[in-house]
Amino acid sequence: MIKIDGSYGEGGGQILRSSLALSLITGKPFEINNIRTNRRKPGLMRQHLTCVNAAVEIGGAKCSGNIIGSTTLEFNPGEIESGEYEFKIGTAGSATLVLQSVLPALLKAEGKSKIVLEGGTHNPMAPPFDFLAKSFIPVLNKMGADIKVDLENYGFYPAGGGRFTVEITPFNTITPLDLSERGEIKGKRAVSIVTNLPDKICDRELNVIRKKLLFDGEDLISQDVENSKGPGNVLTVEIESENITEVFTGFGIKGVKAEQVANGVVKKVKRYLSKDAPVFEYLADQLLIPFAMAGSGSFRTVKPTNHTITNIDIIQKFLDVTIEIVEINEDIFEIKVTR
Ligand code: AMP
Repeated sequence: MIKIDGSYGEGGGQILRSSLALSLITGKPFEINNIRTNRRKPGLMRQHLTCVNAAVEIGGAKCSGNIIGSTTLEFNPGEIESGEYEFKIGTAGSATLVLQSVLPALLKAEGKSKIVLEGGTHNPMAPPFDFLAKSFIPVLNKMGADIKVDLENYGFYPAGGGRFTVEITPFNTITPLDLSERGEIKGKRAVSIVTNLPDKICDRELNVIRKKLLFDGEDLISQDVENSKGPGNVLTVEIESENITEVFTGFGIKGVKAEQVANGVVKKVKRYLSKDAPVFEYLADQLLIPFAMAGSGSFRTVKPTNHTITNIDIIQKFLDVTIEIVEINEDIFEIKVTR
């Protein structure tokens, strides 16, 4: 039984989600204590409980401690079953994070799967749907999977009500990748979306992008979407390069000026464009499990976050791989997976 201290390192939900994913793909049981003790409301919230129950369902697992607020859990995986699943969080908790806990297992399963996820699709501090669709999933598809995602409804915090589907054809063999260069920049786009809020928010955000990132014409897209329950605003900037697409996000927050939201995104994009590292900080922690499943591979990224460092340690508890971080210079690091 692998023992995990949930307060270790980053000390949030990722330790739990990674442990679930890794336990399912290795068949190794684990016990976790101090779940999310570094967060304001520790223990399992609805989103985390949905992750656990989803993992139980697809992995025929036996589990104890899977109740709201629980800070301990024991998880014994069984056989992974591909098929059709529906996972509903019931709050605006991030549905893309629920996918994180079951996707690696379904990529190793015998057959194809189709999952419907309900909850938040555009949450601060979680991968927004657009990041999933344009950045993360395409890397997995390059490694040999065939995953298609389709957004039906937007789910913004706090209203939720988002819904998307994921169709998964598993890896036949996993192709390891070496992402050392971004390659030529082929396209860029800034998309500002509002729902149940004034359109001028989009104009103000896109104006900042026009002035500070020098985007213009077709690179600037404003959308007022109706398939959403509550109010919301999200600004995404996509940088499509030869070897990767990165997506940078800012969320409109009540009391925060639209210009400020856009400036936060500009800062991240400028940092990304000023280095020759294809992978930005969020994608870095999320690529670790697929790269570890491949058993080898590497990518260049900006300074590793606490999420990345913590995830590396969790992965090495389950899988027989070594993950090294090599500093290339001040803000470029190479992360290398070997067996
Ligand atoms: P945790 O804080 O432990 O629940 O983990 C949050 C997860 O969400 C990590 O895998 C982050 O990489 C991911 N994440 C947070 N913000 C973003 C973002 N703006 N774009 C993509 N992924 C994100």
